[in-house]
Amino acid sequence: MSNGTRTRGRAIVAGAGMVGLSAALSLRRAGFEVAVRERAPHIRETGAALGVWQHTITELERLGLGPRLSEIKAEQNFQRVRGPSGAVLDVAGMPPGRVVHRQRLSALLVSAVGEENIRTGKEVVGYTEDEVGVTVHYADGERERGDLLVGADGLNSHVRRKLIPGSESHYYEEGHHVWRAVLPFDGDLGDGCATVGHHRTRGTVTRLADGSCFWVLAQFGVTGEFAGSPKQEAVARVENLHDGPSRFVLREVVLATPEDAVMDNQVAVVPEIPRWKSHRVVLAGDAAHAMSPHIGSGASLGIEDAYVLGDRLSRADLGPALDSYQTDRIARYRQVRWHAKAMAIAPTPVSYVERFSRYLNWLNTTAA
Ligand SMILES: Cc1cc2nc3c(=O)[nH]c(=O)nc-3n(C[C@H](O)[C@H](O)[C@H](O)COP(=O)(O)OP(=O)(O)OC[C@H]3O[C@@H](n4cnc5c(N)ncnc54)[C@H](O)[C@@H]3O)c2cc1C
Repeated sequence: MSNGTRTRGRAIVAGAGMVGLSAALSLRRAGFEVAVRERAPHIRETGAALGVWQHTITELERLGLGPRLSEIKAEQNFQRVRGPSGAVLDVAGMPPGRVVHRQRLSALLVSAVGEENIRTGKEVVGYTEDEVGVTVHYADGERERGDLLVGADGLNSHVRRKLIPGSESHYYEEGHHVWRAVLPFDGDLGDGCATVGHHRTRGTVTRLADGSCFWVLAQFGVTGEFAGSPKQEAVARVENLHDGPSRFVLREVVLATPEDAVMDNQVAVVPEIPRWKSHRVVLAGDAAHAMSPHIGSGASLGIEDAYVLGDRLSRADLGPALDSYQTDRIARYRQVRWHAKAMAIAPTPVSYVERFSRYLNWLNTTAA
């Protein structure tokens, strides 16, 4: 058991995404010296904005981001969701969401971890464990010694594939596509309600804390090649969300988006894996559980992983701490996955939103 004063050892974190950076903060609080190693030449979050929940904000505050978070978060009006007729769907108890700008959250995390503790251009390609430590192998031939390796290296994690051979990521089984953008847009964005429409399509537009505008459209059951550009495909999805001839804000915003600002993804996921750790190696975030973003929880769950990992390590020695972390996180992940599946097969927009509301209330009341 730690006496809370000596250094617990040296932790190497593979990946400087938001989970790797959060894990670095959490491990430091648990008494570890931390070294973050990132494959890319620069730290740059891809993607636009991120929907998170109150518990994520609380965990980030506890990790030390504190009041600076208020500069990058805005409320998102998830309490009211519209159907394609424009009518508000009658679903009680939907908790409020928060939306943060990805790059700005990443910058806050980098500054909290300290650039001197992060090295870029370092691709982890393997590791070897022994009784007293772990040696991390990099693509440039360098090797580095630590007491613990945290694999926070995302969807196609090298660390996971070494820990669990055959655990490659794959496309979401029934096809799931997402289009999104951030752009300057001064016009009225309406009440910020999300819309759940026909043909398993969802969409929303919201104002970010810096005044820019973020929109996202997603559709389940999309397979095959697209004929149009990402923007044309996005414009086509908007029509699933709105029956009436009157003004529809999301359509206006998508039409105003420059072609090259529209991001387009086919959703890929990590298969459920039987363990998340060995003696001196542990997975966190997408590396362990990348899932479909319709449940808006990949980053939330990953930041919670980071928080719980540090919490367990601050209470127990490495072996029991990693056992406790794994037990907690696999159980949590399975629950989230169950809710995600229930939402994906919801037969109507109302049942989709009811299931989302049930999930979010469970998530916020059971968080670490
Ligand atoms: C379209 C879309 C929308 C989403 N919306 C939401 C949302 O609203 N809310 C939410 O909670 N989640 C959302 N998610 C999920 C969320 O983006 C991810 O769960 C989250 O970003 C995962 O963070 P991470 O740090 O685990 O992984 P990543 O962000 O993937 O970071 C991994 C890092 O590791 C680095 N790396 C990779 N391989 C190596 C290596 N071998 N060596 C060293 N470094 C390496 C990468 O360069 C990267 O910097 C969404 C996902 C998608 C695709």
